[in-house]
Amino acid sequence: MSEDPKLFVRRAGLEKTIVDGSDSKGRVAGAAGEPAEEWSFGKHPDEAEFNLFRYCGNDPTDKVDPLGFLEFVFDSSFPKDAQTRFLDAVKLGSSTSERGRYLANLPGTVKVLPTDVRTPTGAYKKGDDMRLYLNPKDPAFLDSQSRRDFQQFPTELPPPDAKGRAVTVFHEFGHFTGAKDENKRGHNVRDNENPVRRGLHLDDRESYNGVPVKQPY
Ligand SMILES: [Zn+2]
Repeated sequence: MSEDPKLFVRRAGLEKTIVDGSDSKGRVAGAAGEPAEEWSFGKHPDEAEFNLFRYCGNDPTDKVDPLGFLEFVFDSSFPKDAQTRFLDAVKLGSSTSERGRYLANLPGTVKVLPTDVRTPTGAYKKGDDMRLYLNPKDPAFLDSQSRRDFQQFPTELPPPDAKGRAVTVFHEFGHFTGAKDENKRGHNVRDNENPVRRGLHLDDRESYNGVPVKQPY
């Protein structure tokens, strides 16, 4: 393609920037009544490129797209520089693996919010409500507890750079498919995170908080 992909991706995200700290019911993310368990899982991600291009070329208000693709809306408290790093991570993961491309092309709109003391890095999905919590101050978007958990498995820790952010983001995107992590008898690391890691030439993650990740068949 002749266009500059980075410019397009940034436009896609930043022009959509929305600002608001609560959902339509006035609930603040992580507030009482929400199943905290659902967004306390881990730390990583994936993504997609082709649909970001499509998104830019089409009417951005048209949500009816049979092919689908993730759109991103940033909470007002999610810093601009972190927004840029996030979109770069999405672009990186979606352009380096098939799984990444697939995950970035999931349908729906994801609200991106910062982690806080009650809400660690994680993904949350209930119906059309999809939220992604990332720590904008961490070089791999990890909350401090997740980073501590990884200390027992230093070779699995996402690197403190763009690749690490892509790992985190695409792990979480995996949860938007309904995948659960290995500690909940799921295969999110095997099926989503590790394929993206390979595309980035990073080692596979071999465990999820000590629960072994089965090798692909
Ligand atoms: Zn997880």
